[in-house]
Parts: sequence; C-alpha cells; structure tokens
Amino acid sequence: MTNSIVAALEGVISRLAALADNPKINYQQLVIISTWLQTAFEVYIIRRQVPCYHRTEPPPALKNHLSGETFKKAQVYSKDRTGFALSKLMFDQLLGWGLIKVGGYAGLWSFAGKVMNSVGLGQNRVITHSLLWMTLLTLSTSIPGLPWSYYQTFVLEQKHGFNKSTVKLWIMDTIKTYTLAAVIGLPVLAGFLRIIELAGKNFVPWLMLFLLGIQLSLQIVYPTFIQPLFNKLEPLPQGELRTKVEELASQLGFPLKHLYVIDGSKRSSHSNAYFYGLPWSKHIVIYDTLIKDSSVDEVVAVLGHELGHWYYAHPTKLLVITQLHLLLTLTIFSIFIHNKALYSSFGFDPSLAVTAPQPICIGFMLFQLVLEPTDALVKFLLHAETRRMEYQADEFAAELDKKEDLKSALIKLHITNLSSPHNDWLYSMYHHSHPTLPERLGAMDEWKGQKRVLKGKKEL
Ligand SMILES: [Zn+2]
Repeated sequence: MTNSIVAALEGVISRLAALADNPKINYQQLVIISTWLQTAFEVYIIRRQVPCYHRTEPPPALKNHLSGETFKKAQVYSKDRTGFALSKLMFDQLLGWGLIKVGGYAGLWSFAGKVMNSVGLGQNRVITHSLLWMTLLTLSTSIPGLPWSYYQTFVLEQKHGFNKSTVKLWIMDTIKTYTLAAVIGLPVLAGFLRIIELAGKNFVPWLMLFLLGIQLSLQIVYPTFIQPLFNKLEPLPQGELRTKVEELASQLGFPLKHLYVIDGSKRSSHSNAYFYGLPWSKHIVIYDTLIKDSSVDEVVAVLGHELGHWYYAHPTKLLVITQLHLLLTLTIFSIFIHNKALYSSFGFDPSLAVTAPQPICIGFMLFQLVLEPTDALVKFLLHAETRRMEYQADEFAAELDKKEDLKSALIKLHITNLSSPHNDWLYSMYHHSHPTLPERLGAMDEWKGQKRVLKGKKEL
C-alpha cells in the first residue's frame, strides 16, 4: 500500500519534472516579474497603511489610555518606520533584480571556481565550491544592507529615543552575527548537500530528519551558547515578582527550572517576555525594561499569557506547521532538482543540472528564487494561525483572573513601544503576527468568564 503510494507520487513528480524542464520557460524572466509583483503588492499595502498615520484621534478602545502627546509620538514614529521600510523594500528589490540582471549567480559561481583553482583545490569538490559560492552570495547581498541597519539603529530609533546601543556594540554584534552564520550555517549547508548527494531521489525524508534534528538542537544551543554572546541573563532576584511567578508556574504545573531577567535595555527600550526549553525543564525570561515599566501584577499577567502559549502547546504546533511547509518545499524542489531550463536561464551551463557530481546548491538557490513569491501567501496563513494563538493565550490569562492586569500591561507595552494606534486590516494581516491592541482588548472584553482551564486544573 505505502509502496504503491510512493511509486504513484514518484510518477507524478517525474511527469511534473519533465513538464517544468522546458527550454521555452524563461525562469529568469518569471522570477523578475514575480518579485516585482510581490514588491508592488507590498508597496500597495504600505499605501493603505499610511493614511492611518494622519488620523488625529486614537481608536475608541485606546482613547482613555493614550495621552494626546503619546498618540502624536506614536503616529510620527510609525510613519518614520514605515517610510524606512518602504525605502528598504525598494533597495532590496533593486539589489536582487540587479544581481540577476548582471548574471551575478553564475558569475560568482565561476569566480568561486577560479579561487578554488588558484589555491589548488580543483573544481571537483562540489560541496566546498558550493560553500564558497554561498558565502560570496550571502556577503554580496547582506553587506549592502549594513548601512541600512546602522541608519535604523542610530538615526531612526535614536530619533525616537529607543536606541541604547553604541557604535562599538553594533560593530561587535555584526561581527558576531556573521561569525555565527558561518560557524553554524556552513556545516549545516554542507550536511544538507551531502544528504541529497547520498540519498539520491529519495532525499526528502532524510533531509527532513536532518533539519528537524538541527532545529531541535538549536533549541538547546541557542539559549546556552548563542544568546549569552549578545545579552546577559541573570536570575530574577528574590522578591514579590519572583514569588508570584513561581506560584503561578506551580499552580499550572509549568516545569519552571530557571527564571531570568535579560538586559534588553542594553540595546533598546522595547520590552517583552518569553519562555523556552525542553518539555520537562523550562526557562522564563523577562526583559528588564518590562519589569521597570510595569507593576508586579502586570508582569505576572504577561507571564500568564505566555504560559497560555505553553498550556496550548503553541510552540510545538508552530514547529509542526514549519515541518509541513518544509515537506512541501522539499517535495516541490524534487521536481526542479535536475531542471536544465532553470540552470540555463540564469546563465549556468545546463549540463550542471544532470551530470554528477551535481552542484545541487545552485539548483536549490534558483528554486528558492522561483518559489519566493509564495512567501507572501505563507505569511498570511502563518499570521492567521499565530493571531488565533494570541487570542487563545489572552483568554487563558483572563481565565486566571488576570484580565485587567493583562489589559493594562498590554496598553503600557503599546505605549512604551510606541506601536501604531491605527492599522489597516490588510497591512496588519500581512505584517503583524499578533492582533492589534484594540483587537486584543476588544476580544478580552467580550470574554464571558468561561473557565475551561481552571476547571481541568481543579480536578488535579
Ligand atoms: Zn503571545
């Protein structure tokens, strides 16, 4: 039964692969048109959002909470941020378009080959060649973005009083980020390519297992080794807040192992809280900025919301969703893996698509370009799901009798972060993983006091 399904699927894939490998299809043209269409769509939704920044009154739900001055500040900040996002969007699109138009992908591939020859490595080491090519490609697309990052931190955020970083810290952060990307990214890419090479046409399940293993190990590696490179986490001192958080965790059976404060204020005054860890040993992290700006009960209410995410297994559900997306992406990739038309339309020798050892990396990158416009759709679907999760976590906090504290905490966070008071619905669905503040307050006000969670807990 399973075998016949696999055989049927393989048949469909090879038929689709033959259809897609048509010299008449100009993939380069297709990518250029679709990325411009995607950019045009993003410009369109920014245009829908801009009038929100010219409104003179806050939305009714926030009227009693936002002073006139804060409202104006939030409007100006949001407008500046959107202006920046629009310029960056156009810049990135022109950069990506330029790279394709000048034949950058094929050009960098042959340049990497020359470098390998000059150091005596020869061109038959396909994986080394691919790693060098990816490094060159990543540098040529990310280095032009550095001035933008600098501007965002030291001009835009600075102007609105959010920036706490220094130039030295920013340079160190950039160096650390690039080093980490190389130390983690290159071995993972090498493993990725090697698995496809070894597994042949049945690479999808093996690659899925490999990538899942990487994601799970990053859950351990990130907080233990990576985050400390950027931030300092210290145990939350004994006191009312610590006692209340510990009480909440034990009331809900949350396996709290460590409770940390993070020095988010080192770089920015934006604030937040989150949890992470293995199923039996969890860590909660609270931003020092959140503690500074909120009352003890408000911070506890924010954590009540976070524990709602844990209670409903939201992180696990998101992991399953990303795995399904990955499965779909890799299955479609297996249609394109030997596509000669794709290689040749970007200036590569089409025989590279079929002769061994095949530089799979080229095929995968070009395939990513073809697939890129579907990102917009994925974003909409994912945001619809994460919004549902936010409402559910808010309701969880309400069931813990923390509704009023959560509402005031969210309003304070909104004010501290100077989030945009008004939002266009389409803009919000595309860009925001969370519902807007008026939406969340409205949903909490509509909550009728059902207690599903506590009912279950009382029986314990
Ligand atoms: Zn949340």
